[in-house]
Amino acid sequence: MHWPQRVHVCEVGPRDGFQNEGTFIPTSSKIQIINMLSETGITEIQASSFTHPKAIPQLRDAEEVFAGIERRPGVTYSALVPNERGAERALRAAADKVDVVVSVSRSHSISNTKMEPEAALEAAGRVAALCRAAGVRTSVGLATAFGCPFEGFAATANTVEFARRAIETHGFEEVALADTAGLAGPAMVYDITSSLVERFPRVRFRLHLHDTRRLGLANVVAGMQAGVTEFDSSIAGLGGCPYAPGATGNVATEDLLNLLLLVGAPASADAGAVLACARKVSEVVGHFDSAVLRAGLSASTGP
Ligand code: ZN
Repeated sequence: MHWPQRVHVCEVGPRDGFQNEGTFIPTSSKIQIINMLSETGITEIQASSFTHPKAIPQLRDAEEVFAGIERRPGVTYSALVPNERGAERALRAAADKVDVVVSVSRSHSISNTKMEPEAALEAAGRVAALCRAAGVRTSVGLATAFGCPFEGFAATANTVEFARRAIETHGFEEVALADTAGLAGPAMVYDITSSLVERFPRVRFRLHLHDTRRLGLANVVAGMQAGVTEFDSSIAGLGGCPYAPGATGNVATEDLLNLLLLVGAPASADAGAVLACARKVSEVVGHFDSAVLRAGLSASTGP
């Protein structure tokens, strides 16, 4: 099998994880957790989302979070934004990178943004232009790239063409393919990502895999076979999706790192430090969804 020489892990817990927590997490706790994650060797942290405070009350403190964290050199602190207004806020808060998301599936796009996918992609293009003008990196996430909670797998027929337009028409150089509802299996992940990786060798593709049906890590393996080296993951497995009923969080960061250790695909993050961080996060929010947090890292288990 083919394993990457280097894997880039993007920690999305402070955004994708926290946004699904019903009880408000104090801003100081969020800042403390992001600072702790920065110490583990993780090189990218999606620290919050600049969305309307009524849409996601949990992340209404995005400005305070960005102002309060210690910026560790070598760590990219990214922000998710829904539109140009959010992008302006993220740029004012000095986010290192701006991530914008559009849905490949029409029903998911309408229910999420009240926009057709094409219109949402145009809007994402305007976000990218704004960021480029400010000299800030940007990526587009394609939600429901591997299946939609409303339309099933029919939506995946659009994924490759949608990615092509994001790249060729709107100039995105980084594309995240998201299994928003955790529907995908390894064969589909392999087929879609390998065709994109072959067609656009200079584009950075990232996989954002929800673990709803416990296929998250199998899909990571399929992605690596297809040549993907960048993965989102969520500390302690926190998360879900407010617009994908029943979805659970991303693959847990500590579970992903355990896998990477076992296959000899190095990441910058220290698995032990991440596990300690996951423990702390699970104490703050009162729950977790991670096999390694329950059982420990494989390497720490005796024969
Ligand atoms: Zn997600």
